[in-house]
Amino acid sequence: MKVRRPIIAGNWKMHKTVHEAQTLVKSLLLELPDTIISDKDVVLCPPFTALHKVADMVSNTSIRMGAQDMHWEKEGAFTGEISATMLRDVYCRYVILGHSERRQHFGETSQTVNLKAKAALASNLRPIVCVGETLEEREKKDFRAIVRAQVRESLHGIAAELAEEVVVAYEPVWAIGTGRNASPAQAQEVHALIRTVLADLFGAKRAAKVRIQYGGSVKPANAEELLSQTDIDGALVGGASLDARSFTAIVKAAK
Ligand code: PEP
Repeated sequence: MKVRRPIIAGNWKMHKTVHEAQTLVKSLLLELPDTIISDKDVVLCPPFTALHKVADMVSNTSIRMGAQDMHWEKEGAFTGEISATMLRDVYCRYVILGHSERRQHFGETSQTVNLKAKAALASNLRPIVCVGETLEEREKKDFRAIVRAQVRESLHGIAAELAEEVVVAYEPVWAIGTGRNASPAQAQEVHALIRTVLADLFGAKRAAKVRIQYGGSVKPANAEELLSQTDIDGALVGGASLDARSFTAIVKAAK
């Protein structure tokens, strides 16, 4: 039996107006009553515009809220950005950081992820720190060094006492939104590797408590096998989180 509490998060990306979000959450509330999710963490990460409304809808349930990014400064002249305090203000408990789409299209680096992760923790927000190699990197076979460096740099200087608050998401870029998931064995290998990096950073005891999610084309059909791997403690779900039935099936697959 796993000691770590499973965590399933839905990354809605740039999908759903407020009205569409309400429709999805209404269905999720019917499919995922608290009795079903009492032994796991379920996190919804809608776009910023829908956070407040969705937070209202799930306020009396065990479903938790997360955002998809944030800035590391508390406030200031940063047009278009949003702070940890603002996310807390709309009841977020989690924030996704360093998603590969942000690394690829918006210049996110492990250094900025590190600043954001520290700022999130300082505001009692749990960072979901994404790492993962591109297809080119996997084919060159240097992907292990790349993932190791992403974890080290993104979590640099975080106090060991806060390690348990951090969630790491291993998301091979070639598996995101492609329908081609990593095999359970491929994912498990990298998750075990990530845990050795966490042990170097925080000590083995603390590393054993950090949750590592897999992300990349998780669907009802592959969730159970992926989630049954020793070091896979949950899933970060993109496309399949936009459909109440699919997301529910994935949540139920986490034991
Ligand atoms: C993601 O965006 O984090 C993701 C894993 O997407 P998908 O599930 O659609 O591959």
